[in-house]
Order: sequence, then C-alpha cells, then structure tokens
Amino acid sequence: MTALHVTLLVAGHSSQRERLARRGGSWRSVPFPATVALIEHPTGTVLYDTGYAHRYVDATRPMPERLYSWLIPGVISPGESAVEQLAARGVDASAVSTIVLSHLHADHSSGVLDFPAARIVAAEGPDGTPGQRARGSLWSTTAHGVLPAMLPEDYAQRRVDPATLPSVETGLLGMGEGYDVMGDGSIVAVPLPGHSPGHLGLWLPATQGPRVLLVGDACWLRAALTGDLPPQQVIATMHDPDAYVRTITALTRLAAARPDILIVPSHCQETVDAARAVLGG
Ligand SMILES: [Zn+2]
Repeated sequence: MTALHVTLLVAGHSSQRERLARRGGSWRSVPFPATVALIEHPTGTVLYDTGYAHRYVDATRPMPERLYSWLIPGVISPGESAVEQLAARGVDASAVSTIVLSHLHADHSSGVLDFPAARIVAAEGPDGTPGQRARGSLWSTTAHGVLPAMLPEDYAQRRVDPATLPSVETGLLGMGEGYDVMGDGSIVAVPLPGHSPGHLGLWLPATQGPRVLLVGDACWLRAALTGDLPPQQVIATMHDPDAYVRTITALTRLAAARPDILIVPSHCQETVDAARAVLGG
C-alpha cells in the first residue's frame, strides 16, 4: 500500500453559538470551518467533502432555500472554494476521480458541481434530489438540509452506493467493517450513523505521518469525545438521536484507546488547525 498524502483545506465556514455545540458553552459565535480533505492516491485525487462554493450564496437567496442559510449562515471568500484551492496547487478539477461525501448537507456538498469527472460515494438523497423520483418538493428537500441546486443533475448516475463497495475490516475499536473506496484498503468509508441518513466517516490507514479518521459531523467539536456533548435539544434534531449518541460513544472509546489516530470532526476549528499543523499543507 502506498503512503497517502492528505491535506486539509477549509472551504468557507459558518458560525454557531458555542452553546449549541457543547453543553455549558457560551453564547458567543464560534467558527465552524467547512473542512475538505484532499487525498492524493496513485490512481486519482480523492476528496472527502467539498465544503462551500460560491454558488451556495446565490442558491440561498430565494425561499425556501433562504431558511437554510438562516440556520447555517455559510460564508466563502474569493479563492476559498475547493476547486480554486486545488487549482492554486496545480490540481485540475478533472483529476478528482472520487468524492466521498460525509453527507449531503450544503456545507459539505456545495462544491460537488465543480468536479464533473468524479464518482460520488455518498448516501442516497431524499426524494427531490437530482435523479430521484421527484415526489419530494423543494420545501421538503430543504427541510432535510439538502439543497438540490448543489448537486449535479446526474447525481443518481454518478453516485456509488457505499454498500456496493468491498467490505474491509477497519481494525478500529467499535467501528467494525467499512467500505473499501479505492480497492486497496487505503481509503475506507466508515458508517458513522446518527447526524444524517447514511452519514460516512473516512478512515485513512495508509497516510504519511499519523493515521487519520475524518468523522464529518459525527460530532461537531472534539470536546464531544471528552464528554462535552451538544445540549439534548440539539441532539433531538439529529436524524437519529440514539445512533448519534452511540456513534459519539464509540468514537470516545476509540480516541481513548488509540491516541495515535488524528480524529478530525469537520467543524472543529481547534482540531482542524492542529491536524493541519501535523499533516502540513
Ligand atoms: Zn456540517
């Protein structure tokens, strides 16, 4: 297995009251970076999540999409989208062969349209997402946290159901099996259920430097893994609150047993900064 190089990028951010992210937190706003992992695999470039893109700002002007930006006020600066950051590194959008989406919420999926050659390993969208039978209205799709305008028209054709990929033992305490994304065991999608339907983490057992487990929105802050969970009212808004807590419990045990693994929640500024310092840019 070749050692993979992983770079964490931040493609825009939103902000949330700290109190919503952890019990006992303050009312001040804390940044929620939209993290994108760029993984250079010998057979192609892989992204885990795509962050915000400039189209998010336009797409959330009208109703009902504006409700989404009220809940999650996404901000993206010029040059900050994943495709722009890749170009600045000399990586063409067409080199991205695979995107693994933790889930379809817009702070993770807004950049997908910039990578037309990539297959997309992700959960099926709710009715109303491109390629689905259009039973769902725009309102109900938005209520699921999914903005159909952020997904390509051929989403259903390009989507790879993770369950169709070969199973591989992760070797991670409590995590069981995952899905072998590249067929060589180096990039493994891991079910981390609860936050949203089919939520996926990404286990990278073959990285240069420390091993990395990207956990998306399985928890928002690393503090959740030392007992600082979000308030119960916030957990109740998750897709499957019980599974969400079970996933955090499993990650908490893993973090204690394997301090050598970098566990990176997408929106934890402190962890993302620390991981970037270790992984390099
Ligand atoms: Zn998110």
